[in-house]
This record gives sequence, C-alpha cells and structure tokens, in this order.
Amino acid sequence: MRLHTADPELEELCRTVEAKLSAYNECDEIDLTVSCRDTFEDLEGATVRALRETYAVYRADVGDVLINRAEFFKQDMDLQEYILAHEIGEVVCKQVGPPVEEEPPPFRLSCDTWADWYTCKWGYLESALRLRATGYGSEYCEYLKLWESVSDFRERMLPWYHRKVSGQLNE
Ligand SMILES: [Zn+2]
Repeated sequence: MRLHTADPELEELCRTVEAKLSAYNECDEIDLTVSCRDTFEDLEGATVRALRETYAVYRADVGDVLINRAEFFKQDMDLQEYILAHEIGEVVCKQVGPPVEEEPPPFRLSCDTWADWYTCKWGYLESALRLRATGYGSEYCEYLKLWESVSDFRERMLPWYHRKVSGQLNE
C-alpha cells in the first residue's frame, strides 16, 4: 500500500500506518492521497454538524482522505493512527469488500461499521474503543470486541445499526 501526503504534519503518521497495514493483503492495492483542511466548515455537506466535527473523511468521488486539522490534532497519536486506519478501512470496504459476502439490504452493515471491523483486525481495537465510547456508545463497543468472529460481529451489530440509522439511538 502507499499513502501520499504533501503535508509535513502528516508524513510520520502516514509512514507509521503504511508500515502497520502493509502486513495485510486487503491493503495491497491501496494507493491514497491524505491531505488536510484547517476546518470542515466549508466542506460540501458540512451543514451537518456531525460532518463538521468529524476527524477525517474518505471522499470516494475524489479518491482521497481529508483530515480535519481543527479536530484531528487534538487527539492522541494512537487515536490519530486509528482515525486514519478507519478511513483506509472505508476504502478497503468499497474496493475489496467486507470480510464476508454481504447480504442484500437491509441485512447489511455500512462501510463505516466494516471499516471499524478492519481497524480491529489491524490492531486498533483499544483505540477504537476509546474513541467510539463517546461517539457510538458502550453497546457498539461491546460488539466491536467480537471482531474475531465475523458472524458474531455482524449478527450483534446489525440490530444496533438498524436502530442507529432509524434514529432510535440517542447517545
Ligand atoms: Zn467511517
């Protein structure tokens, strides 16, 4: 895999994540540019508060990962690694697919959830739990810990995901 960045602040992070993820076949074809914006205030679709406050986003149409400088560098180094790895997980989910054959909708998880599954596989479970505890809540974190069994992970996560997308979770 290869991560490109023109931003000196992101250089070391990119090399670290590249080194860790190159051990995994699903990352072989990843060739990605990582860049920074000072804030996401002016990002397309940023009327949504969640997007303005998010740490990073994978833009499938542009083919890059965009880092939200205002939020991202407040995080510890291990969380920065996890956040970048999560975005790469989104790319893997879209380009390679989830770790198992997905069912037709509505019986499938989003790439956001599968991206977290990949980050667990890549050794970022502890960081994921730290960051997701406040964002997605404790129930989500319990299911993340099941990542070693893809079928258990999916089975437990799917009802949670349906509640989330239908607005029944208010964490
Ligand atoms: Zn995501």
